[in-house]
Amino acid sequence: MPVRRILTIDKYEKILRSKSQPVKQINKEIKALIRDLKDTINDPSIPANGLAAPQIGVLKRVFGVRLGIPDEDNDEALSPPIIFINPEIVEEQPEVVRDFEGCLSIPGMMGNTDRKLKIKVRFMDESGKKVTQEFEGWDARVVQHELDHLDGILYLDRLESKADLYVWVRDDKGELEAVPYLDVIRDASVPVEDKSGSKLRLPGLKTRT
Ligand code: ZN
Repeated sequence: MPVRRILTIDKYEKILRSKSQPVKQINKEIKALIRDLKDTINDPSIPANGLAAPQIGVLKRVFGVRLGIPDEDNDEALSPPIIFINPEIVEEQPEVVRDFEGCLSIPGMMGNTDRKLKIKVRFMDESGKKVTQEFEGWDARVVQHELDHLDGILYLDRLESKADLYVWVRDDKGELEAVPYLDVIRDASVPVEDKSGSKLRLPGLKTRT
């Protein structure tokens, strides 16, 4: 089954912002969707911890996640993709943790968000069995991130402020570094008029309001 193209927010915000529909039965179409999610998560060119059906353009309540502590040097530390169908959070502790997360649909950025430390989730596994399971820490974060996708919610909506948003930029040596978004837009801002009152020319921009 094919590795699918991941939809990104620049072109596909409307789909990514849509609410997904519950799965009524695990038919041929849902089985194909599960295979595609797994194949796409397992694609070595994609650093995927998780992927939700709307990210490949299917508005169904299904996602896959790899659980375990992320470790750049040891990919084996993560589980194979585990499929969640019609997941619901049935219990959560009030305690939250703040940590960084990125999203394959929002390339080039990451955010520092608060997520519940512990959640209990009820879902159907890929064989159709009903499961209730607790998740904690990083696993709980990944599950909450993917569950949000099924409701058209992105981590951008979970930021307390824009100060928690970071952009990946290349430094002088060509290495990627995460720079606060507010620093990037401060450096990018240009005055509309100089002191003499004459207008500055901006490439490709006719008017500024
Ligand atoms: Zn995401």
